[in-house]
Amino acid sequence: MSRDDRYRVTIVKYGTRQTVRSDVYLNYHLYGEPDGPIGMDYFFWIVRNDRRTIVVDTGFSAAGGARRNRTTLIEPAAAFAQLGVGQATVVVTHAHYDHIGNLDLFPGQKVVMTTNEYDFWIGPYATRTLVHHSVEDSEIGYMRKVREENRLLTFANEHDLAPGIKLIEVGGHTPGQAIVLVQTDDGPVLLASDAVHYYEEYERSMPFTQVANVVEMYATFERIRGMVATGEVRHLVAGHDPDTLARFGDGAGLFATIG
Ligand SMILES: [Zn+2]
Repeated sequence: MSRDDRYRVTIVKYGTRQTVRSDVYLNYHLYGEPDGPIGMDYFFWIVRNDRRTIVVDTGFSAAGGARRNRTTLIEPAAAFAQLGVGQATVVVTHAHYDHIGNLDLFPGQKVVMTTNEYDFWIGPYATRTLVHHSVEDSEIGYMRKVREENRLLTFANEHDLAPGIKLIEVGGHTPGQAIVLVQTDDGPVLLASDAVHYYEEYERSMPFTQVANVVEMYATFERIRGMVATGEVRHLVAGHDPDTLARFGDGAGLFATIG
């Protein structure tokens, strides 16, 4: 890879669970369709070239996963080691337990997230039942520590993290959910994280159960459709879809690479 504004994107599947459609699609009964089983996979992403390595989210911790009966396929720390990822800047797409669980693997490193996301989780409504069950207090505490250590970079709307890596705040799923647009030799890749858990969620505009702002969620589906239509996005990487690895690799292992 010669140009320093293009990257390889590695998708890491580190966890999984089985659930039902009515558990993942908000007000599922409104669609008038039978309920049924659906899998949910857990991912984080590594963006790198010869000059830079950026980690996008850090997966759930052993405690956070165990508390919710999630299955760990590979410990995130082991995945980082296996892929040769040492210390790196970390992008936090949002502060849910399955996205910031191992932030302490990157001590002293810069952490980047939206101002709205940070402010919400240290604010007065973060402890309310419908939102609090998706976070771990100790991990929100660690996020605060990152700020106290002056290594938290927050942004609003958009942030050019490095040449070829743009962070975009979309909200919807959480108050400050972000998505990540990465340039690769195989075209632009959008790491949608939890703005799009499932391809079906995006294709049929079916918001996920956990929604801070349902209008923003609908608007984000439209925005991404526009980005795909114009070629601003070539590869859409969903945040939890069990089909994701098969779309970008052979689907058999825990990793797939684009670019
Ligand atoms: Zn989430």
